[in-house]
Amino acid sequence: MSATNLIHASLTARRRARELDALASGEQVDVLVVGGGVTGAGVALDAASRGLSVALVEAHDLAFGTSRFSSKLVHGGLRYLAHGRLGLARESAVERDVLLRRTAPHLTRPLAQLFPRYADTPAREYALTAAGLTAGDALRRFAGTPSTLLPRPRTVPAAAALTLVPGLRATGLRGGLLAFDGALTDDARLVVALARTAAGLGARILTRVRALELQGDQVRARDELTGDTVDLRARQVVNAAGVWSGGLVPNVRLRPSRGSHLVLDARSTGLGETALMVGVPGELNRFVFLLPQPGGTVYLGLTDEPLDGEATDYTDVPDTDVDFLLDVASTVLDRPLTHDGVRGSFAGLRPLLDTPGGRTADLSREHAVLTDPGTGVVTVVGGKLTTYRVMAEQAVDAAVTEAGLRAPSSRTGRLPLVGAASRAALTTVDAPRRLVGKYGIEAPRVAALGDVDHALARPLFPGCATTAAEVVWAVRHEGALDADDVLHRRTRLGLVPDDAEKARPAVSDLVERSLRGLA
Ligand SMILES: Cc1cc2nc3c(=O)[nH]c(=O)nc-3n(C[C@H](O)[C@H](O)[C@H](O)COP(=O)(O)OP(=O)(O)OC[C@H]3O[C@@H](n4cnc5c(N)ncnc54)[C@H](O)[C@@H]3O)c2cc1C
Repeated sequence: MSATNLIHASLTARRRARELDALASGEQVDVLVVGGGVTGAGVALDAASRGLSVALVEAHDLAFGTSRFSSKLVHGGLRYLAHGRLGLARESAVERDVLLRRTAPHLTRPLAQLFPRYADTPAREYALTAAGLTAGDALRRFAGTPSTLLPRPRTVPAAAALTLVPGLRATGLRGGLLAFDGALTDDARLVVALARTAAGLGARILTRVRALELQGDQVRARDELTGDTVDLRARQVVNAAGVWSGGLVPNVRLRPSRGSHLVLDARSTGLGETALMVGVPGELNRFVFLLPQPGGTVYLGLTDEPLDGEATDYTDVPDTDVDFLLDVASTVLDRPLTHDGVRGSFAGLRPLLDTPGGRTADLSREHAVLTDPGTGVVTVVGGKLTTYRVMAEQAVDAAVTEAGLRAPSSRTGRLPLVGAASRAALTTVDAPRRLVGKYGIEAPRVAALGDVDHALARPLFPGCATTAAEVVWAVRHEGALDADDVLHRRTRLGLVPDDAEKARPAVSDLVERSLRGLA
């Protein structure tokens, strides 16, 4: 991306104020999106890249909702295959390829996953997993993803399994299945990259603007920074508010389910770079994952529990989820996990479409694009992070039809996000690998902030990898408006509360000075 484009793709407090003013004074856009998660940001990008004028309003910050609490997997759709949902599985495999190879190679990586086999692993369960992985590999080929990027699944003997995951319990180990899927460095950063790419094409990305009432062509909204109420006009309003969508239009019924993860110190698990998939005892085709992350942590997930009551802004991880995850993971580890090794936890709500009966774990992961007959609002909901792009494409198609707009078909399948380059090109970027994994080809610019002002090259606290330069970059280019935006969405220091508290004084100071143009 050239320097000029970088400026256009920069989200700042000043830009937000200017663009909100223009809309509040009556300017009409083609498409107004409500919700700044992966779906809403994807819709904004799809519409802007078709040449439509676009605004997006987000009540809090980009990726404030579910999109930052995922398992960060770019799924090939194995789970859907298990449920016989071939179409959905195929869509996932194709979208995984788009992310890994075309739109976001910098934010994604192949992830090796070991499914260990013990003497007491039920033969049927193991055979089913092997068959699923083989079928998943056929979808990889269908999607055109080369085996050099996602190698074919294979069986490995016990010794190799222990080399891959040294912390595995050796007693009774018979070997395992080794497979490969995609993973994101960070889900929240994908959302920020989508929003910035859309902004580079002219979209107005307005955080801290809460939609209060939706009509097909108008949104009454509140600027959460000033408290002012504004009416924003559009040819078509698209509701992409995730689990909160149903509160904004009458025709959407959701049955959210809570998914919890724990953040562990990688050393306490004995994992290397290979993820560990642990079958939930007594359940077929349900796994708990231990997912190694860049930076020395492991995420342990995932629960799937129906939510009691309304979706609120923050979802706690109950002790029952913690116990369940630690217990299941410990069945295959040499050193059982305890509460002491838990450094943090996070939970998100799946925006599952309500269908009668069944557990939330069985509810459809399909998405829906629905037009409310009363208001004319188009809602896009459900699905998952991996398939955000097709969801966005279909939502914009519906918006174009509903409002009679003239627009070409979607081009996001071939549109690299801010910072993207081919995997080969990324290896030549002259910056620390950690930064390339977060910022892609923009990494040298982030590092350069520390060359100009040496204080910005320093870590936020001793032992922390994140530098002050990353905070300044978040304010100057990524739309961070306060310390929480930086701690919880631009960096993920917030996933370990101790780290967040250690970093907070420096981050608050840097954000404040950056907003005033002093850092
Ligand atoms: C625990 C868990 C793990 C998952 N793991 C994976 C995975 O590994 N891979 C995968 O592909 N998918 C995964 N998913 C699914 C995926 O995370 C979600 O489908 C996806 O993030 C939903 O994105 P969204 O943009 O629709 O919703 P959200 O991210 O929730 O975005 C909605 C946004 O709307 C905003 N909003 C709400 N009300 C208003 C209002 N009135 N005005 C303005 N803005 C408003 C919210 O603040 C929020 O930011 C997982 C889901 C969960 C819960």
